[in-house]
Amino acid sequence: MKISDIYTRKTPLVSFEIFPPKPDMPLDTLLKTVSELKNLEPDFISVTYGAGGGNRSRTIEISSEIKNSIGLEVLTHLTSVAAVEDEIDTIIRSLENKNIENILALRGDLPSDIPDFNFNNQSFKYASDLVAYIRQRYDHFCIGAACYPEVHLESPGKEEDMQNLKRKVDCGVDFLITQLFFDNSIFYSFLEDVRNIGIHCPISAGIMPVFNTKLIKKITQTCGASIPQKLAKILNRYENSPDDILKAGVDYAENQIADLLDHNVDGIHLCTMNRSDQTRKIINSLGII
Ligand code: FAD
Repeated sequence: MKISDIYTRKTPLVSFEIFPPKPDMPLDTLLKTVSELKNLEPDFISVTYGAGGGNRSRTIEISSEIKNSIGLEVLTHLTSVAAVEDEIDTIIRSLENKNIENILALRGDLPSDIPDFNFNNQSFKYASDLVAYIRQRYDHFCIGAACYPEVHLESPGKEEDMQNLKRKVDCGVDFLITQLFFDNSIFYSFLEDVRNIGIHCPISAGIMPVFNTKLIKKITQTCGASIPQKLAKILNRYENSPDDILKAGVDYAENQIADLLDHNVDGIHLCTMNRSDQTRKIINSLGII
């Protein structure tokens, strides 16, 4: 089913994000995790592409398993960075063959392994080019895209980022998922700006529970999400206490999501880091599915 159709039937949507394991690791452990996540009855599972160490063909294989064997709706992430049209066509046809109906169309980050890489020489310079390409040639797909409540790191400013987002949505985006954030007030203010500029599609809030202090510091540095004082204190207090940080991370995410639900958010997109235990605790405590 198209995710856009699920949004029209119910809100808030609850979705989970997973990433493919490293190429030399078997898929069984991840697929078992997805089966456990299925018990929580999410509206869909998204599978990242080329991020978190997984290789790209695995994203399609895992997406197909989720859709066709496990029986959950799936959102396949796809990045256009360093890709030419033929490659994108091959991937999209392969998704079609596996009955996958939802694509998260992304540009992707600057590839660290290609020296002198220049986005200006690319077939797809921005995610909006990929969105337009899919919309023109493969209109039957439901297309999601990324947005950034704290402004994309490469953007010269909030105004430019907002105009670029509007341009991207106008190319044919059905729904948006935000970059992770820890301060809901930033999200509410972003939402107001987005609606004021004329973007009316559903927007799911990207939430990442803190599982590990070092990891969260690294992730926030790379994606530009700020750490509010309240969370910084928790991270400092439990820096060397893995069990306490897990518990505190779950508590923080529960409070954050409860507040978003009070504000009638369109959807919650939870980055699971391939862990079903913490995800289950958060979902059960909130009673949202
Ligand atoms: P774009 O929308 O193209 O934006 C990139 C930059 O270009 C922004 O600064 C924007 O303001 C600017 N821009 C856009 N259009 C124009 C224009 N016409 N003129 C001038 N400037 C413009 N990465 C992965 O590798 N794999 C994943 O699976 C993955 N999943 C993600 C899921 C979510 C929910 C999010 C939020 C991010 C994800 N990313 C993933 C990271 C993403 O690839 C990076 O953030 C990347 O740097 C930008 O991708 P984008 O699709 O947002 O790009």
